[in-house]
Amino acid sequence: MCSIVWHLGDGKPVEPGRLYQVRGGSWAEPVPIRCPNGHRLGPHQVLVGSLACPAIARHHRTHACLQCDAVIYWPPVTEACDHTRGNWIMR
Ligand SMILES: [Zn+2]
Ligand SMILES: [Zn+2]
Repeated sequence: MCSIVWHLGDGKPVEPGRLYQVRGGSWAEPVPIRCPNGHRLGPHQVLVGSLACPAIARHHRTHACLQCDAVIYWPPVTEACDHTRGNWIMR
């Protein structure tokens, strides 16, 4: 897995997988700055969803690049993952 940089929309790198309190008191979830193919993932260039995964006993947060269909998972996909019967929830 190549290294994905996550941010809160301001370009400053943050750790994925947790929420951050931002200006105004609301909470923000990190999003990837770019897809693995180098496309910038702006507000209307990424499809956010989640995928229930028995292998990790929780959900992956998924960010799909609308330009190339690359999907970035958090937590990262493991060898035990089988998403072919995937239970996708898009929002
Ligand atoms: Zn892309
Ligand atoms: Zn999985």
